[in-house]
Amino acid sequence: MSFKALVLEEKDGTVTGSVTALDDAKLPPGDVTVAVEYSTLNYKDGLILANKAKLVRNFPHVPGIDFAGTVTASSNPGFKKGDRVVLNGWGVGERYWGGMAEMARVKGEWLVKLPDAISTKRAMAIGTAGYTAMLCVMALEDHGLKTDSPVLVTGAAGGVGSVATAVLAKLGYAVTAMTGRAEQADYLKSLGAKDIVDRAAFAGGPAKPLDAGKWGGAVDTVGGKVLAVVLTQMAYGASVAACGNAGGVDVPTTVLPFILRGVNLLGIDSVMCPAPQRKEAWARLARDLPLDKLDAMTTTATLGAAMGLAEKILKGQVRGRTVIDVRG
Ligand code: NDP
Repeated sequence: MSFKALVLEEKDGTVTGSVTALDDAKLPPGDVTVAVEYSTLNYKDGLILANKAKLVRNFPHVPGIDFAGTVTASSNPGFKKGDRVVLNGWGVGERYWGGMAEMARVKGEWLVKLPDAISTKRAMAIGTAGYTAMLCVMALEDHGLKTDSPVLVTGAAGGVGSVATAVLAKLGYAVTAMTGRAEQADYLKSLGAKDIVDRAAFAGGPAKPLDAGKWGGAVDTVGGKVLAVVLTQMAYGASVAACGNAGGVDVPTTVLPFILRGVNLLGIDSVMCPAPQRKEAWARLARDLPLDKLDAMTTTATLGAAMGLAEKILKGQVRGRTVIDVRG
């Protein structure tokens, strides 16, 4: 049987992508086969499609670090035909063929059954970005985030940032959204942000090792100098959940926020995150992410449009979340 996929080919160091029909005999080994309905575009998908971070070693390659769909065949006792499932990470779309295709075959242990309240399309509106946002919120809660705390979200108009903003606002936190795009202020307020701060105030790095401690918690998707400034502004004992590097990997900080204010820097990884935490994150998303806000932050694109969108997400020009309709 043939199925449609976005296939990346490499020639002389240049990677090109095109929508191609593949034979299902070409699918990689695995104990669960899934009819994929939707994939999505995360920052890492942008890196892979644009071949920016050399995350893919073997071509031809099917990208897509996420997918949601329905099981068509399984020899794994945990899954049966008809189960609705979601996959995030585990190297799928990087080391293994991914979700930008009408079919995928993977290890069942990588799959999570979708909560009834979440459709396959909305699961990909959430995607790795949204599930990572929830991991950040869970980490902050585990480290004592208080309900009346002011919480800063950086890179707020992006995918992780938009979901984090909507979830934290629903949970009753006073969210301040940091963005480099002033024109997205109304959008961020519609997701529940109370205040907006300009990225420019953070982009130069810390002016001093400690500033006024104003944030009870922070979700940082940007890293770099921005994270260094955020650390100087954390309240006593507060935590930053650091998940991203959209603004750089070098963090010019000092130890003072840690040793004088007891600030915690919590590292968040979605790719190898253990299954119990994933399941909890998806259950929490079903409960704590308002669906109207999710729909408002989502646009849908075809498989054929993914290559063009990759450049845009890397330039910080994509707002919220983009679902890829693999059948479209
Ligand atoms: P998006 O591109 O959707 O969002 C990133 C946002 O960061 C942009 O929208 C923009 O927000 C801001 N930004 C972009 N460029 C810069 C820059 N040069 N300096 C400062 N801010 C910038 O990406 P995602 O939300 O999908 O991912 C965000 C980050 O999180 C990425 O680095 C990604 O790799 C990482 N990530 C990590 C995961 C993990 O497991 N640790 C999982 C998922 C994502 P605005 O315009 O509002 O300022």
